Order: sequence, then structure tokens, then C-alpha cells
Amino acid sequence: MTERMKHKTVTKPKVGVYGFTGCAGDQLLIIHSEDQLLNLFNAADIRSFVMASSNPIEEDIDVALIEGSISTEEEKERIKEIRKRAKIVVAIGNCAVSGGPQAMFANDGEFAKRLKQVYGEIKFITDPVEATPIDAHITVDYYLPGCPIGQPQTFALLSRLIHGASPDECTRPVCHECKLNENHCLLLDKKFCLGSLTIGGCGAVCPTYGLSCVGCWGPSKDGNFAQIVKSFEEFGIGREDIKRRLHNYGGHKILQYIKDLEIMR
Ligand code: SF4
Ligand code: SF4
Repeated sequence: MTERMKHKTVTKPKVGVYGFTGCAGDQLLIIHSEDQLLNLFNAADIRSFVMASSNPIEEDIDVALIEGSISTEEEKERIKEIRKRAKIVVAIGNCAVSGGPQAMFANDGEFAKRLKQVYGEIKFITDPVEATPIDAHITVDYYLPGCPIGQPQTFALLSRLIHGASPDECTRPVCHECKLNENHCLLLDKKFCLGSLTIGGCGAVCPTYGLSCVGCWGPSKDGNFAQIVKSFEEFGIGREDIKRRLHNYGGHKILQYIKDLEIMR
């Protein structure tokens, strides 16, 4: 190694991993990726990571990975503060992307009633608000769906961002991956599979093992919701069951994508 190389300093991109309301499964997925972590720490300067360090450094960063929905007044302020410091913001996981299961009753007008049913008259440290995805409050540059996120997609995205490239976003539904796996389609057996309405990326893991997709990676923008709902009804599945399954992981995005569909009213 030459003297010049010895003294050459490489500036690593600064990365922060932040958690809002959710189960923290996406942060855990990153921490549990032991085979990738050394590469990540070599390539990036991790300044803040709530699950991994009790000593976050809150300063300007290049990339913010944000998990969880916005569910309190305090979180509404904190997400804006992170946005101001971050050049690139990525929503990671279903809660940050769509609102998560806690947004399954989004916009039904009964948030206050449900809150009281669950918590009674308890006094909160910060006021709860109806759960929303982070793009309801700030501009999001990229989305990494999943419940939780997948390891290959996460490290492919990080690698591209760290090297200054735009990440590839999956636009195909779960059915596409299911076909690549040469699975027998569960719809032919009149099963309640949401694969055609769900954003791909998980590798169609559930239908590959004979289980219907319940849509945990969140709704696909281009799904033919009206036709699939009609097919489910022809299979004998009740409207309320269809509605519940679509809402489970659909959060606010499902309202946006199927606003004209009678079943969602
Ligand atoms: S089994 Fe489900 S995911 Fe697979 S092709 Fe059929 S509808 Fe799509
Ligand atoms: S429920 Fe659907 S989106 Fe979620 S892991 Fe299974 S196949 Fe993938």
C-alpha cells in the first residue's frame, strides 16, 4: 500500500434508521442480517439506529430509513424534523408505507370511539391520532414495502442508495412471482388469495406453500380490485370478510386505490 493510499479518507454516506409506531420488525430484520451487517458498516456511517444504539447522533444525514406509522402528535413533529435533516427518505415496512394494521379502520370516523373503548380515560404522554403512513406528513423518496421488509430487497436498496444510484422498486404483484415459481393458482380452487392485488417482493412465499396471500406487503396500485372482489363473491366469500381482508394491511393506500369500489363504503 502506498503512503498516499494509507492517508486517503473515504467519506461514507451517513445513514439513520428511525422507528415510529409499529412492532419494530423491520429494524429487527436489519439487525438480524448478521451476514450483511459488516458490509453495511464498512460502506455506511450509521449515525442513528434506535434498536441498535442508545446513543444516536442526530445531525444531517444522507439516507433516513423510517419504520412505523405516525400515530401521535409528537410523532407528527418528529417526522418533519427528520425530513429536514435527510437528503433521502425511505419508508420501510407496511406501517410506514400504508399505515399498517393499526390503520385498518382508516377514515371510518370512529377513531375517538375506538380509542376510548381500548384505553378508557387514561392520560397519554402525547396525544394519539389516527395512524397514517409517513407520506401523509412528509415527502417520501422511496418505498420498501413488506411486513416485515425482506432482507434481499433491503440490502439491494441500501447498496444502491449508498453508491448514489436509485433503487429498483417492485411494481409487479405477488401473482407474478407465484407464476415464476410455477405454483398451482389457488383461485382455481376458489381460495381467498389476494396475490393479484398485492405488491410483489416476498417471492410469493405463502402460495408457494399452499396458503392464500393475505396482502401483507400492501396493495398494488394496478390491481383489478372490482373483478377480484366479484370473483371472491362468486366463490361464496361474504362482503364483510372480503372488506376485512383488504383493509387488514391496506391502511390508507387501499382507500386511495379502490375509492370507487362499492364494497369499501
Ligand atoms: S395462487 Fe394467489 S398469488 Fe398465486 S397466482 Fe393464484 S392468485 Fe396469484
Ligand atoms: S401474505 Fe402475501 S405478501 Fe405477505 S408474505 Fe404471504 S404471499 Fe407475500
